[in-house]
Amino acid sequence: MSDRLTHWVDGKPWTGSSDRRGEIFDPAHGSVTGHVSLASELDVDTAVKAASSAWQSWRWTTLSRRARILFDFRAAVLRRRDELTRVITAEHGKVLDDADGEIARGLEVVEYACGIPALLKGGFSESVSTQVDVASIRQPLGVCALITPFNFPAMVPLWFAPIAIACGNTVVLKPSEKVPSAAVILAECWAEAGLPDGVFNVLQGDAVAVDRLLTHPDVRAVSFVGSTPVARHVYETGTSHGKRVQALGGAKNHMVVLPDADLDAAADAAVSAAFGSAGERCMAVSVVVAVEPIGDELVAGIKRRIAELRTGDGRLGADMGPLVTGVHRDRVVSYIEAGLRAGAELAVDGRDVDVDGGSDGFWLGPTLFDHVSPETSIYQDEIFGPVLSVVRVPSFNRALDLVNASIYGNGTALFTSDGALARRYQSEVEVGMVGINVPIPVPAAAYSFGGWKSSLFGDAHAYGEDGIHFFTRSKVVTSRWPHTKAPRGDIDLNFPGR
Ligand code: NAD
Repeated sequence: MSDRLTHWVDGKPWTGSSDRRGEIFDPAHGSVTGHVSLASELDVDTAVKAASSAWQSWRWTTLSRRARILFDFRAAVLRRRDELTRVITAEHGKVLDDADGEIARGLEVVEYACGIPALLKGGFSESVSTQVDVASIRQPLGVCALITPFNFPAMVPLWFAPIAIACGNTVVLKPSEKVPSAAVILAECWAEAGLPDGVFNVLQGDAVAVDRLLTHPDVRAVSFVGSTPVARHVYETGTSHGKRVQALGGAKNHMVVLPDADLDAAADAAVSAAFGSAGERCMAVSVVVAVEPIGDELVAGIKRRIAELRTGDGRLGADMGPLVTGVHRDRVVSYIEAGLRAGAELAVDGRDVDVDGGSDGFWLGPTLFDHVSPETSIYQDEIFGPVLSVVRVPSFNRALDLVNASIYGNGTALFTSDGALARRYQSEVEVGMVGINVPIPVPAAAYSFGGWKSSLFGDAHAYGEDGIHFFTRSKVVTSRWPHTKAPRGDIDLNFPGR
């Protein structure tokens, strides 16, 4: 890896004007493997200028050419897939198979965007009045800023960029400074696919870059994914500067297990969804709600499965990798200490884990709390680590009330064999993405991804139909082409009536 990773602007690597730099870590060893440039406000202005100027021609590029570039982009990502996977694991820490999985999910959105000639079809009504027709069309917005989190270095940028570009916009992507390399590989893939210079730009940076993007007059839309406090800030600042904003925030996802559920399947699902990517997923299950009397049996099943998990370097065949930084690991550990102080029962302590990885890696093993009270911080806060809490409740209604009382509403799952209760749950739960006997219900690319309440600020969810709507604005054209010349003096000051 180069000593200093830089931006990608106007079709090529660009060092920018700022001397500020951030450290890039290998989380499995706790070592610094390189540095990344952190953009100044001036650098943001340069990137937005390149994107603005590219938009003047990209917006008129034919749909068939856009679709061809998307197909070629998909082929380029497939060619670089192994390299991209290794880079994600090296900087984030997730295991190789999981890194590959996020690329697969991102590619599904690319495949959806390949259908842009059909997706951008407008409407047409002939003869709404005498020789008057109406057409509706969708047009691009201009420069769109994408601000993405550390936990999906490839997938989250791919939720937005292919659709924004397919719709005729240009893009400035500001990836997380913790995992900056995947964005540059994606930029190279766009270039290989023949995307004109300046249509896709990468600006490495932190809050300085974000705050300039949010106020820059030529940025028309902002897609943000990250923690809830920053999402709220992005939404409020961006909209108060006249921008269209979708800001996806944090989560606390409940998995409710009813007494009639297949408990083996539920325990498998709970462990996979809680500890995959070391719990650093916005759709991770962080609370299991056990509807009694199955609590003891379910917790025993979860403990047995945790005992079989291997924590270690994601490149060496482990099931679960390290956390992304030492600071984040210490924050998660402080939640475990808070849980103990609050009287929760620590059923598995991840602080004692044996690891197969570097001695200075950012390690924390799978951790399980039982008998957790909804008043505690381990229940209420998004921990974003391998810490699973089990709350026990006496009935389905109490489980539903508990889920609905959460400030978050990203994802939830219900495990049951009762179709009527499943139907009631999916209707009454106040959560944006619901899984029935499916633990991480990330919607397929033709649907849209997004939560409710403090998990999303704005109206539009990511990708799918919402993505097309977010990255375009509609225009309605009413036209009259009379077959015969209208008589002179045909003035009427009233709205046309019957
Ligand atoms: P984060 O909020 O710290 O950072 C997200 C982005 O915002 C990064 O690009 C970062 O550089 C920038 N940023 C950070 N602090 C900022 C500030 N004060 N002002 C302006 N910009 C700032 O999030 P993270 O730690 O990178 O990612 C984890 C979070 O993202 C979790 O809360 C997780 O739930 C959430 N997430 C949500 C979804 C979703 O779809 N809802 C998906 C993935 C991750």
